[in-house]
Amino acid sequence: MAKNKPREVNPKKINDPAARRLQYFEERRQEIVDTTRQLVEIETPSDDKRAVDRLGQFLGEKFSALGGRVQFHRTTDFGDHLQVDFPVASNKRSGGPILLLGHIDTVYPIGTLANMPCRVADGRLWGPGTLDMKSGIALMLHSIAALQAWDELWRPITVLLVSDEEVGSDSSRHITEALAKKSQAVLVLEPSYGLHGAVKTARKGVGVYSLKVTGIAAHSGLDFEKGQSAILEMARQIIKLSDFVDLKRGLTLNVGLVQGGTRVNVVPAEATADLDVRIARMKDAAGIDRKVRSLRPINRKCKLQITGGINRPPMERTAGVAALYAKAVKIAQGLGFKLEEAAVGGGSDGNLTAGLGIPTLDGLGGVGEGAHATHESILIAELPRRAALLLT
Ligand SMILES: [Zn+2]
Repeated sequence: MAKNKPREVNPKKINDPAARRLQYFEERRQEIVDTTRQLVEIETPSDDKRAVDRLGQFLGEKFSALGGRVQFHRTTDFGDHLQVDFPVASNKRSGGPILLLGHIDTVYPIGTLANMPCRVADGRLWGPGTLDMKSGIALMLHSIAALQAWDELWRPITVLLVSDEEVGSDSSRHITEALAKKSQAVLVLEPSYGLHGAVKTARKGVGVYSLKVTGIAAHSGLDFEKGQSAILEMARQIIKLSDFVDLKRGLTLNVGLVQGGTRVNVVPAEATADLDVRIARMKDAAGIDRKVRSLRPINRKCKLQITGGINRPPMERTAGVAALYAKAVKIAQGLGFKLEEAAVGGGSDGNLTAGLGIPTLDGLGGVGEGAHATHESILIAELPRRAALLLT
């Protein structure tokens, strides 16, 4: 199929180092696809430690074969987090340390592959986790392998692959932050944005809250007036919460889950709601947190309990982020393509590193669509230039 033939390289340009690098990865396109497929075929739901550890071990061996120093940060509830260091002798060193950041867990339960097999069709590799973010891990492996082959590993590289990103990164956050603080820049291999492969220079911060209303149960026929409906109270609170949305500031609030009541003929004594808050600016964090926490019962006979908080700060487009993006644009130009940028609502561990003020560029991974969905897939033709973009 024409689509799957390697990209033509202009022979006039072959002396150009960027074109040579691109051609190197074009010639290895199938290998990058094969690696991605291997990673996808080891299923890794965040909540299955044994499954995630299996992929961790597999990757530990792969990185070790490239000369990396492999260590696992043990956890009991999730897979062990994988750290790989590629140090550089001081006489060869030019440039500060780089952290390559990603995650090995996915949102898909074991057995998903049976209905959603990993396969190549229409110039794409399809399957659970192809985009988010097993192709990103494959790109890390192949870019580092290339630097080793070219003897061009000039700056120390640390790879951190955490196992709990899809469930909030609670057990890995301290490791991510500690390694980021030692780095000059953080490159996050999460999926790029859109089918043009834009990198992400801003991400919203994320907060999660849980609201519990306690009312008084009563028979809806015999004792209606003695009951205090938790569901009615919750409905009023939800309307109040919706007033906190400020689209101009990029502040959104979504009540995504509501539960309550026991039977149709009982005035409900309990209702719960879970809500997701997104903020574009760090300075809005304290304000929205205070607003949510200061909700008070409208029906004084009901009780309100609020838990949660802002758990990922926004990744703001700071001067450091903009400078890193500008550098990537220049590299992409040399490789013959225009690298766009995007601000997105979703959070990643890039929020944590950017929140510390470390220049962070996110969305350097695969190009595709359908993350977390049945049509998850990556564009195979984009793999070589993503690999060339990463570390050259
Ligand atoms: Zn991801």
